[in-house]
Amino acid sequence: MMKLQFNTGSVLSEIKILAHQGKQYLPDVTAVEVPGIFRGRPVILATAGSSGDETDTQQLIDFCPTGAISGEPLSIDMGKCVFCGECQRAFPSRIRFTKDYRISSFTRNGLIVREGQDSPIVMDPKLVREEIRKYFSKSLKLRQVSAAGDNSCEWELNAAGNVNFDMGRFGIEFVASPRHADGIVITGPISKNMAEPLQICYDAVPQPKIIVLAGTDAISGGIFAGSEALDRSFLIKYTVDLYVPGNPVHPLTLINGLLSLIRGK
Ligand code: SF4
Repeated sequence: MMKLQFNTGSVLSEIKILAHQGKQYLPDVTAVEVPGIFRGRPVILATAGSSGDETDTQQLIDFCPTGAISGEPLSIDMGKCVFCGECQRAFPSRIRFTKDYRISSFTRNGLIVREGQDSPIVMDPKLVREEIRKYFSKSLKLRQVSAAGDNSCEWELNAAGNVNFDMGRFGIEFVASPRHADGIVITGPISKNMAEPLQICYDAVPQPKIIVLAGTDAISGGIFAGSEALDRSFLIKYTVDLYVPGNPVHPLTLINGLLSLIRGK
């Protein structure tokens, strides 16, 4: 009979490492205190602060370099915002950024935060196509397409799969081939040069397939919006299933958005 042999020293050293490092994954991705200077969902304060600053709406609109702030009603479009935080620094009595990272939306309009609104972004499950929950609730494979991205969102998407965020525990993974994927995640503003590769990649994904836009550049073109170097006609042809704002996106924003899409959580 074969004898099992244990190397006690090795086992003990493994236990010591586990005890030292603790749990590396975030047990609950819906309730994390994000450290540092992370800027999530913005809030436009309805009334002037204690400083008595009666900031003119037009001043705020003119101030934003990406045109994310607009009037009537005063609002911030998270699909255009690059989360630079300059408006908060210049007008602290009117704008502040919360650390709420659950800011994805099933609709483009859902990314718009209006004056006086300080509540989580609502994700209405009725807006999700029936086949998405039916086929992908337990397993979702995605092909990432960097369509002239600057590698910032791409890094964060990569991070979503690391030991800390551990997106794989939910059955969500990035795969190498579109033929093995259930959908695509687009980053970058979609340059003319990337328009055709994006189309080819999308065509190679079997039906039913989903489209996710990750990051400000993908959602609106970001600081490149209106550039002649872009060709965003792909987005006119197809319906986007999930918008994940951020510049770059935070892994927790992506994971929570995808979980809402496939499981309604
Ligand atoms: S954070 Fe920057 S991009 Fe966003 S609304 Fe403020 S100024 Fe505009």
